[in-house]
Amino acid sequence: MYYMMYSNENGEWMENPHYTMLGRSGNSWVIPERSEMMLLPKGSSLVTIPGFFPVGLGTDNQVICLNSDPYSPGKRADVVAALLPQGFTRTLLPACIPRSQAQHVPLLGYTAVGFKSGKVYAAAVQNDRHHSWHPRYYNTEKLSSRIYRMLRRFPRNRILRQLAKCSLQYGCFTAQNLFYQRWEAGIPTTPVCNADCLGCISEKHGEVDSPQHRLDFIPTSEEIVELAVDHLQNAPQAIISFGQGCEGEPSLNAALLAPAIGEIRSRTEKGTININTHGGNYQQLIKMFAAGLDAIRVTLFSVVEEHYQLYHRPSNYNLSQVGNTVKAALDRNIQVSLNLLVLPGFTDHPRQIEALLNFVRENPLHMIQLRNLNIDPAVIDRNLGFESGAVGITTMLGILQKEAPQVKLGSYTHGVKR
Ligand code: SF4
Repeated sequence: MYYMMYSNENGEWMENPHYTMLGRSGNSWVIPERSEMMLLPKGSSLVTIPGFFPVGLGTDNQVICLNSDPYSPGKRADVVAALLPQGFTRTLLPACIPRSQAQHVPLLGYTAVGFKSGKVYAAAVQNDRHHSWHPRYYNTEKLSSRIYRMLRRFPRNRILRQLAKCSLQYGCFTAQNLFYQRWEAGIPTTPVCNADCLGCISEKHGEVDSPQHRLDFIPTSEEIVELAVDHLQNAPQAIISFGQGCEGEPSLNAALLAPAIGEIRSRTEKGTININTHGGNYQQLIKMFAAGLDAIRVTLFSVVEEHYQLYHRPSNYNLSQVGNTVKAALDRNIQVSLNLLVLPGFTDHPRQIEALLNFVRENPLHMIQLRNLNIDPAVIDRNLGFESGAVGITTMLGILQKEAPQVKLGSYTHGVKR
């Protein structure tokens, strides 16, 4: 059994030994099972969710809302949650309720936590190696000097200035990798998008503000090529990725990006060129495939058409075009990953699992990257609704491994092996 954890007004993490920890799956409170919990992974952040009451289970099996600190009656008790590093999938959302109707959960991937034997546990399972996305490799003392050196090397490159802002202001890891000259580095290029996703992190959609803002210019081909070539030639396990949290949909920029990819490949054969995309702009994407793209990662919340429409709200494409893109990429031996936005209580519903299995049977793609969806579950409830009957994230992962063993489950893009 795990005990409820909360934060007191002094910001101290407290255990409430009288209340059992609860998590949330869809619209249900859930007592976590052992298979759904793990010791808080290294590199996680423990944070409070402002404006919410913690919820737990009392000794008489009553669901209790903790509206004040049991050790200091009358003083506030705040919800504690974990933000997981890459490589871990959340199994349960934090159990909490808003202090007022107007309160929204910020766009972060909050995970339920609890105490057991004096240690903090998180509702999570590991799904990929932790190494290259471990927070200890980022935001280091050397970051500023590395940014300064790169800006001196490419003084007129506006993408670099955007990435410096993303590194320092948003703490973005893919932006920082460009300055650290290693692994996967993002190259944002496109301010616009033809979808309107409920959980977009680069533009405000609806009532919840987005944590990042899009770049506000279209770079030149040379600005893209000089950064990409420099990274691919010099970085270990180099990947450059179009499609970042500070931009729109890069395939809308295919008229610029396809020739830029051709130019990059004429200067270096090293590394992996990847695009993170919603996958709906089939005609533009096949131009990029022909130009030499190595990998594509397609983001999906659901492969049930009705839910796809309600979440992504595409303006001039639909799910069948996304399927065509995936097929076309596979036909050309391009590495294809799904970026599956995972929400406990929705993604693990049998209807979603069956649709996903049908999609991967029809499209034998390489990998499903499990991404913890940053969203207030109330937004999903209002727009799509939660159906009862979810089987749990760990059960869902077991089903995927059993029914589609050829598809690797993971958390981030791996380089293409030539
Ligand atoms: S496709 Fe990406 S950029 Fe476009 S609305 Fe969705 S999350 Fe935002």
